[in-house]
Amino acid sequence: MISKYCEGEKCACGKDSTNKIEQVIFDDMPPAHGYTQYVCQDCFDRVMRPYLKKEKEATLIKELRDALERATKLYVVKTYRHIEMENPDYTRFNEIIEKADKVL
Ligand SMILES: [Zn+2]
Repeated sequence: MISKYCEGEKCACGKDSTNKIEQVIFDDMPPAHGYTQYVCQDCFDRVMRPYLKKEKEATLIKELRDALERATKLYVVKTYRHIEMENPDYTRFNEIIEKADKVL
């Protein structure tokens, strides 16, 4: 999505702007207004890509962990049902839970 505020604004490279970036003035710096700049998508990505990549990786790792947790829970439930049908030996169920806890 491109904001209406970017309409008619140009990036320093000459392309139409899609974003606006702003310099942060930290409290240990002399007071001043931060510089701002309209940028096109390519220039925005060039500056922000390392951050975006890190965000994407963190999201992917979380999704993998969640998927692993869901899969393990499903496996434990299915195994439990199987054991219960074959032989209602609940100590074996507890062993499986302990093993799953060690893996996780
Ligand atoms: Zn540009």
